[in-house]
Amino acid sequence: MAEIIDGKAIAARLREEIRQGTEQLKAGGVTPGLAVVLVGEDPASKVYVSMKERACAEAGIYSDEHKLSAETSEESLLGLIAQLNEDERIDGILVQLPLPEHIDERKVLEAISPSKDVDGFHPYNVGRLATGNPLFRPCTPYGVMKMLESVGCDLTGKEVVVVGRSNIVGKPVALMCLAAHATVTLCHSRTRDLPEVVRRADVVIAAVGRPQMIKGDWIKPGAVVIDVGVNRIGEKKLVGDVDFASVSERAGAITPVPGGVGPMTITMLLYNTLESAQRRARG
Ligand code: NDP
Repeated sequence: MAEIIDGKAIAARLREEIRQGTEQLKAGGVTPGLAVVLVGEDPASKVYVSMKERACAEAGIYSDEHKLSAETSEESLLGLIAQLNEDERIDGILVQLPLPEHIDERKVLEAISPSKDVDGFHPYNVGRLATGNPLFRPCTPYGVMKMLESVGCDLTGKEVVVVGRSNIVGKPVALMCLAAHATVTLCHSRTRDLPEVVRRADVVIAAVGRPQMIKGDWIKPGAVVIDVGVNRIGEKKLVGDVDFASVSERAGAITPVPGGVGPMTITMLLYNTLESAQRRARG
């Protein structure tokens, strides 16, 4: 049976480090600040935003919440972002996605100052990541890298297969693995013979959004398997993109769902906010 990579425990350790880092900064007169902007009433987004607020409070980070109605115009949202860009108490700005249809998501993300873009979605930060000089790394992929690090998985020379090429997970995690000297294959819906490609992998990272798609007989014995997928089955049950029962019989280590990558995403948001505040403190 594979070792279970405990995302909750890794996240708790990191959050304690972040809390200590925040305390140190506060002793020097700088309080890290995160602005969270929510537009509209999407129930899942509301839950994420309240989780982020709670996590900030626990870490000692000042959180500045802006809950705007679904009718908010693009212009007034851009106005708020301009204001937050100038606000010296704010080190990070997070706009909860998705935005209502009448607002151009790309325009909004590009309006955030790259030096406060703690989600790492601004093209400037995407470019810095791609050129090997990151300022902010996107939170979920960064969490994946921290998990690999915490189980002592050195990627140098390893075959990493990433399944999924989205801008928020697949592509950035592939770039991060490349920067860590892995040989990276990035797969997607047009990849031919996906099981055969996955069989080459020393490390598999699944970010597809298809319940239990990756099966045990796709896995090289001993491989490390990171499951980013979160899929709801019925009312309550959450499963990943990996068929945990069969894959855990062959893998060397595996993340569960829930309790794997999930708890790392908000943790890395706090981490990025603290780093941004540390830059402010250095001046
Ligand atoms: P997207 O829907 O944006 O991207 C999915 C990717 O999977 C696409 O690149 C798509 O290919 C590829 N894909 C779809 N079907 C197949 C297939 N049959 N074979 C191979 N590739 C396929 O998803 P996200 O990246 O946003 O999210 C992926 C998963 O991760 C979801 O379950 C999401 O809920 C979860 N997630 C979890 C987070 C966390 O905090 N734990 C954070 C973010 C996401 P193509 O490009 O060709 O269409």
